[in-house]
Amino acid sequence: MSEHGVDSNQIRELGRQALGDAHLQEAYRSSTLRLYTHRLAAVSEVPGFERLRERARELKREVMDHLDFYLAQFAENVERRGGIVHWAESAEEARSIVGEIARRAGASEVVKAKTMVSEEIELNPALEKAGIRPFETDLGEFILQLSGERPAHIVAPAIHMTRHDVSDLFVHNLHSQPTEVPEQLTAIARRALREKFASAGMGLSGANFAVAETGTVVVIENEGNIRFCTTAPRVHVALIGIEKLIPRLADLAVFLRLLGRSGTGQKLTVYTSLLTGPRRPGEDGPEEMHVVLIDNGRIATLADEKMREALYCIRCGACLNTCPVYRKIGGHAYGWVYSGPIGALVTPQLTGIQNARELPFASSLCGACRDVCPVKINIPDLLLHLRSEAQERAPAPTPSGAALGERTTIRLWAWAMKRPWAYSLGSRLARWGQRLLARGGWIRKIPMYPASGWTDGRDLPALARKTFRERWTEIEKQ
Ligand code: SF4
Repeated sequence: MSEHGVDSNQIRELGRQALGDAHLQEAYRSSTLRLYTHRLAAVSEVPGFERLRERARELKREVMDHLDFYLAQFAENVERRGGIVHWAESAEEARSIVGEIARRAGASEVVKAKTMVSEEIELNPALEKAGIRPFETDLGEFILQLSGERPAHIVAPAIHMTRHDVSDLFVHNLHSQPTEVPEQLTAIARRALREKFASAGMGLSGANFAVAETGTVVVIENEGNIRFCTTAPRVHVALIGIEKLIPRLADLAVFLRLLGRSGTGQKLTVYTSLLTGPRRPGEDGPEEMHVVLIDNGRIATLADEKMREALYCIRCGACLNTCPVYRKIGGHAYGWVYSGPIGALVTPQLTGIQNARELPFASSLCGACRDVCPVKINIPDLLLHLRSEAQERAPAPTPSGAALGERTTIRLWAWAMKRPWAYSLGSRLARWGQRLLARGGWIRKIPMYPASGWTDGRDLPALARKTFRERWTEIEKQ
């Protein structure tokens, strides 16, 4: 494993293991299908949804093209409203800033809202090492803290677990009665967490958006735990990746209309909180509000004109729910914090292509992710770009038999595609050869590499008895 927990050699192995786990696949299949269909219904209700996506994309492009300006404006406005701004170039720096704030606040316990960036900077182990106990308060993250796992999905971190798995976990860790009723499971978690909101000295959140014009941190959620984390403790710390900026408060309406619908199929999430500075006289809320603006590789992505587009992401998770690869292998097979199509873009950027060179290849390039992305990131195009970068900067080690076989097959294919007579002969030979393998229109197992790689994980449709050209000629004759 690399220091980031990603290891190219292990990514294939993790994928292979996931393909052999029917229980896991069923959990992913049913949950992503539910989110996918909810999104379809929610999106179809909005007239001009495409225009909304275009507008969101324009806004994100505007921010990325002038990020220095918007960051300065945001920081100035946070400070004007009494907040304290910190700048973290690396994960290490971000961890030490948060640790120092907690130390000064005398906080031995921290309540945390769900924040992917805190997973990215591996904050929890650092806090524990410093003698500060972090408590995850989002239900999914709470479950993962008990199971000791990383999030399996950007929006639904415990998507890979069934109610039965969660019940077992609670019985084992919280000594509760077994139950698979969602309300009862939620009540068990709530009982374990409620008192922590009042006793913790510090609350920690991420941000869905950071409004430059006003210095406002925007967080959305369904459970109400973020409101607790950001208002009950004396000190609130918001961890914000610098790509989260949006220019103006009015622009928030565009993103809110897209985010809930794209992620979970909701018109809006249950709570939308706009936090601008610490509490003022007569208000509830924290006495201190800290904002930690985190780079950790984002500036380098910004400098790459092609890859800059990946920073438009608003972390809705729609590309995961629609991706045939993610739906099959799940989030943990991507080896790090971010998974699915967006993970395949972000992980190589943040951890170095040499640590994640396999990820851009873990895609069929079908384009389903691009079609659902609310900010229209051209994910397949960026994946192709990363593939060539991987070949250049982190070429695969000496070609093994497998890689050599794959390369030779692709070359043969390219050669035949340029020569109609060769293609036609090849397809005739293949149709003749498949008689030994095809049953009921499907080939379930091919014995030779590299084609055997395909049938290791799924069936292959048999070639039609007649080619398109043969059928066309027949139709013309008729
Ligand atoms: S890439 Fe697009 S679809 Fe995927 S999480 Fe980001 S915003 Fe959502």
